Amino acid sequence: MTLRLHDARRGGLHPFAPVGDRPSIGLYVCGVTPYDTGHLGHAFTYVGFDVLHRYLEYLGHDVTYVQNLTDVDDDMLRKARETGEDYLELGNRHVTTFLTEMAALNWLPPDHYPRATEHIPHMVELIGSLLDKGIAYAADGNVFFHVAADPSYGQLSKLSLAEMLPIANERGNDPNMPGKRDPLDFVLWQRSLPDEPAWPSPWGAGRPGWHVECSAMAMAYLGTRFEIHGGGGDLLFPHHESELAQSEHATGDRPAVAFWTHAGMLSYQGHKMSKSLGNLVLVRDLLCTYPGDAIRHYLVSQHYRTEIEFVDGDIEASAAAVARLRQACLRADEFAASGAGRGSPPEVAEHRRRFLAAMDDDLDTPRAMTELAALAELALESDEPATVVAAGEAVTELGGRILGLRLAPQADAVSASTAA
Ligand SMILES: [Zn+2]
Repeated sequence: MTLRLHDARRGGLHPFAPVGDRPSIGLYVCGVTPYDTGHLGHAFTYVGFDVLHRYLEYLGHDVTYVQNLTDVDDDMLRKARETGEDYLELGNRHVTTFLTEMAALNWLPPDHYPRATEHIPHMVELIGSLLDKGIAYAADGNVFFHVAADPSYGQLSKLSLAEMLPIANERGNDPNMPGKRDPLDFVLWQRSLPDEPAWPSPWGAGRPGWHVECSAMAMAYLGTRFEIHGGGGDLLFPHHESELAQSEHATGDRPAVAFWTHAGMLSYQGHKMSKSLGNLVLVRDLLCTYPGDAIRHYLVSQHYRTEIEFVDGDIEASAAAVARLRQACLRADEFAASGAGRGSPPEVAEHRRRFLAAMDDDLDTPRAMTELAALAELALESDEPATVVAAGEAVTELGGRILGLRLAPQADAVSASTAA
């Protein structure tokens, strides 16, 4: 079996393979804009990509995982203005909270965790290339990407130009910025307001647009062509569409990304979880009630690309399921310690095979977890010592290494201390 993953640009599932002869798989995931507390929807996205990260490593790939921090953009500056806090201090505070919560969910930290403010010269250089290529224009201290000059714009989201504008406007586009030739043209560089941070550039002091930040950071760590770019489904347009356009026009290397993958959105009380609707379920609040592994189990029980509706009490069932997996590992440990024989029972091999086949099928974790539960039942119910040991070891390996559940007997203590 080969791992097949979804790619939004080509549509459908495609066999995964490294790009060229690169020694390491490049995985870039759009990170948080740290102006507020993280909610369960963020956790669903990052746990989903954590499983992908772990599975690629399980398959023997070396992975370079990059997740950025959008520490300067409209939302950051607006929130800093509202609270009277320095925008960098505001960002640092929320980054610390985010990392603590993700550690409680047993998320493997990225190899690189760049902040946009550390890469401004890369962004200026990239914008310069787009101007040289004639796909961007400067006006009034701002620089815009000229969408009408790019016939391939829309290749990722599959939206028509008419469909794009209302969505772009909802997600940060200002159609009336001075100097714009077309309302859909997006900002590469913008003149800063008097109370905003500003960096020098050939077009005057200002700050980068949101989309160009990710193009520059991805390229700085992963080069002009890499394997996987991820993020929440609400980033597909305009963020990823614009990122793709910038990266490919700036370098001429196509495709810049082999797989554009997106996590599904999480709803609560019938609506997509959002600050404006006030229906946020905060990770911090859940961690007061449940161990991190129960929350992780709940998130991994859903396929990463599906839209899910969270219902209060859903995590209870996951807490019970994690307890059962741990009992299975414990019983297997006890049998192994008492000198039980080793073997390769065919029913254990069959569940393991089906678990991996489900993972190869675009990370079908719900199906994989059915096999994991069946292995736990074998470890708990079998009268055959070799079966108990082999099934318990399979639970530890597949549930621990791939799904990231802490199943060792002391795991509860670890989970509680990282959440504190
Ligand atoms: Zn991004």
